[in-house]
Amino acid sequence: MRGEMSAMVLRQPGTPLVREQRELPEPGPGQVRLRITACAVCRTDLHVVDGELPDPKLPIIPGHEIVGIIDAVGPGTPRRPGERVGIPWLGYACGHCEYCRAGQENLCDQARFTGYQIDGGYADYTLADERFCLELPSQLDDLHTAPLLCAGLIGYRCLLKAGDAMRLGLYGFGAAAHLIAQVARHQRRDIYAFVRPGDEHAAAFARTLGARWVGASDQTPPEQLDAAIIFAPVGELVPRALRAVRKGGRVICGGIHMSPIPGFPYEWLWGERQILSVANLTRADGREFLRLAAQLPLSVQVHRYVLSHAQNALDDLRAGRYSGAAVLIP
Ligand SMILES: [Zn+2]
Ligand SMILES: [Zn+2]
Repeated sequence: MRGEMSAMVLRQPGTPLVREQRELPEPGPGQVRLRITACAVCRTDLHVVDGELPDPKLPIIPGHEIVGIIDAVGPGTPRRPGERVGIPWLGYACGHCEYCRAGQENLCDQARFTGYQIDGGYADYTLADERFCLELPSQLDDLHTAPLLCAGLIGYRCLLKAGDAMRLGLYGFGAAAHLIAQVARHQRRDIYAFVRPGDEHAAAFARTLGARWVGASDQTPPEQLDAAIIFAPVGELVPRALRAVRKGGRVICGGIHMSPIPGFPYEWLWGERQILSVANLTRADGREFLRLAAQLPLSVQVHRYVLSHAQNALDDLRAGRYSGAAVLIP
């Protein structure tokens, strides 16, 4: 007799998650089945649940920062039961389009994403394409590793786009910023943290992580910045960040969704300032960042919820009720 799994399922965007019992799925060719031990909650999950991202698979099990132990393998899979792996947002890339061939599988035309087009980690079991599972460093436990798989990884890709910027602005001091601030400090960069006006909790949190300056997102920093990364999904921050960076500086948009960017005078962009976005991740980013995270080591602030309280975790994220990253434990 086959076992059962439980999952928190989104049936329609804009409706609360529903708990479901399902038959335990068997891994197909090239797939592994994971017994999930932790799954972090990402702002992208909120965008999926709120219907801000087009055409999710429905019903969908959200969640794309999954840590677990392989408990069954499909035919033709080199992995073995008992291996501990992570499943990130990039769940599939074709391997032969022009982007994949150029090392940009994050932009693959056929890419499929965990917790969006593939059932994800708000569950106690899941299936994954074994080629897109990441090996995990042993230095961090499952609870503290899960947030690295998107907040850390996408944040790291943003940091790479900031080049050698030494004065680095971070707009939105949530899960991604708290990890990337530590990497940036380790690289001897100075952090300028921008938080929601009046959010004293986030401001204090940024200070504990060594920010050189902390201010509200509508404030001008005391020095011109070399680059700024925007993690908050707020389009108004783009022209504000442009005004905070020096000539030749960069503004990097790290989120998958943002409210419309208001118009602004060309002179704010002029002076060879750049605006760019970061989309998804590559497996190479994952390996590089996880290696770095183990070396530092990163201190990961988590806020834990039992799986059945996934909706509370999403609501708390929307309202900014915790610092760091929420993690669901089955
Ligand atoms: Zn491709
Ligand atoms: Zn994410």
